Amino acid sequence: MWNVDVEKECGFGAETIQSTNISAPKLLATTHDLKLYVNLPFLAFVLRFSPTTQYTSLMSSIQTPLEMSPSQQPVIVVGASLVGLSAALCLASYQVPTIVLEKHEGISKHPRAIGFTARTMEIYRSLGIENKNPAPEDFVLERAHVESITGKWHDNSSWSDTERKQKSNDQKQQKKKTQSTPKKEFSVERGSAIPQDKLEPMLEALALERGADIRRQHRVVSVAQDEEGVTVTVEYKGMQQQIHGSYLIAADGNRSTIRELHQIPRHGRGFMQTLHSVLFRAPLDQWTKGIVQFDIDQPDLKAFLASYSDGRWALMFKDDIERDSEALQRAIYQAIGRSDFPIEIITIGQWELTALVADTFLSGRIFLAGDAAHTLPPNRGGYGANTGIHDVHNLAWKLAAVLSGKSSAELLDTYDSERRPVALLRHDQIFVRADYKVHLDTATPAGEKIDDDAMEFGQLYLSMGIVGAYECLPRAMRPDEWKGQPGTHFRISGEWSDAAAKLRESSPVVLNSLCIGGDVQLLQQGDFQGWFGVSSTGAALIRPDGYIAWRAKEAPPNLAQVLDQAISIVSFRVEDHVE
Ligand SMILES: Cc1cc2nc3c(=O)[nH]c(=O)nc-3n(C[C@H](O)[C@H](O)[C@H](O)COP(=O)(O)OP(=O)(O)OC[C@H]3O[C@@H](n4cnc5c(N)ncnc54)[C@H](O)[C@@H]3O)c2cc1C
Repeated sequence: MWNVDVEKECGFGAETIQSTNISAPKLLATTHDLKLYVNLPFLAFVLRFSPTTQYTSLMSSIQTPLEMSPSQQPVIVVGASLVGLSAALCLASYQVPTIVLEKHEGISKHPRAIGFTARTMEIYRSLGIENKNPAPEDFVLERAHVESITGKWHDNSSWSDTERKQKSNDQKQQKKKTQSTPKKEFSVERGSAIPQDKLEPMLEALALERGADIRRQHRVVSVAQDEEGVTVTVEYKGMQQQIHGSYLIAADGNRSTIRELHQIPRHGRGFMQTLHSVLFRAPLDQWTKGIVQFDIDQPDLKAFLASYSDGRWALMFKDDIERDSEALQRAIYQAIGRSDFPIEIITIGQWELTALVADTFLSGRIFLAGDAAHTLPPNRGGYGANTGIHDVHNLAWKLAAVLSGKSSAELLDTYDSERRPVALLRHDQIFVRADYKVHLDTATPAGEKIDDDAMEFGQLYLSMGIVGAYECLPRAMRPDEWKGQPGTHFRISGEWSDAAAKLRESSPVVLNSLCIGGDVQLLQQGDFQGWFGVSSTGAALIRPDGYIAWRAKEAPPNLAQVLDQAISIVSFRVEDHVE
């Protein structure tokens, strides 16, 4: 396991920006002082040791929407599936005018994704979506290798297993223990099982409520851009029309029209196979022992069977055979291992199992997100849908900041530098695990398996918008190993999130500050300084997407100016912006 001290590994620890004197007390005194320096919805934590309260912190934030100029052109989002709707919700939450264009009339009948990670649920929670079905604390997603559900069970494997092995109950319990403990510590949220076709209407309803304009049956056929903005041509009920916008997010899936129009190449493992699937309803819970994923292994039936935890199941065939409804029904009963009860076939589907990442996630005013940017095969790490949701969460606040005139457009370049490496690493990690090892070709380097929690909570961002993150650092580690490294995600424990929730409620106050140990009492005494890797006088600056953009391990004598400079750098602040 890596355990990195940046100063030792990289030969320097230059996170602190040198500058001249402005006294710290002035900065810390009132919310209005801080407003002077913080132009974006940042959370700034300034930790200070106090002999009476042990740890005292001043936590400051602006969470109010960024004001848009009245003439502001909307952001256009192409695609109203999971990622497009998440983009619309994020943007609408910042009051960015948003138009979503979707070629289909309704949402896809096939639920597709179901597993949403704790990190995704943190994002949704911050947008107002409650996790109504949190995974149990000790939940580890296991897949059973069986002849059929009611027939012989061979073995079980977890996502992290690189080899299949028979495990005793003791080993399983031990594994659950070691895997679940850190997750609980890294996030106040838990993962959730929500079928994609149930989640999308929730996102849509909330985005509409916050002002997003979602237009269905609008197929985008072309897009042009210039220095002023973008113009898309759409087909609606046989008519063509043009829609103007400031920027465009292409969330139009694996076969992205926008990506193809811009001839953005993709690289990766590529196409692996076409999968035929059938979605059906059957009462199977009595035989599943709580397992929701099965590898069906019979001489004449190799398939993957997954539950949507609402009575619906998807059977995905590993062969390329076209089956009529009778043959589908036979195969379903064969996978179950008995046929003495009725089943209902809901729909059939055909999927391309593909792993490809676009060579760039941006082209001028156009940003690729979700499957348009990276098509990753469905896996137990939830890298498909979850990665796309994290993309637009990363992008939305940047667009809001640039459109409000407070940040320069260079901030948007950090989207590609931050998100593309995440997708590339996830691509490679998929093929290190047992589920997809079989698809690894000799041209794709296998690499080392990285800890699941590191992949979920600790992928590093390196960009011009992060001060103090260096090429020499590992690409992912667990938050407890990073210890507040800039470019990694802010670790939310229960107490912090409660405090953050208070801050979110503070709108329309532009800036709020709370004192940990004063305004906010920690329920449990933790190693607060250790979490952030700062001394008793240090500080960490947290971006709206929860990433640590900068930190000072020690308070510099001219703290106010140093913080001001850090904010200016990481927010790409427009210096002559007038409120
Ligand atoms: C069977 C299956 C199971 C999966 N399970 C999981 C899982 O458990 N966890 C996970 O994380 N991921 C999973 N995934 C992956 C996940 O479903 C995708 O990553 C996710 O749907 C991608 O969302 P998206 O919005 O980027 O693209 P899509 O869902 O592909 O949506 C693209 C949208 O753009 C629209 N569109 C396309 N072109 C145009 C155009 N020219 N004009 C207007 N609209 C257009 C489409 O109609 C569509 O609505 C699974 C995928 C499959 C196939």
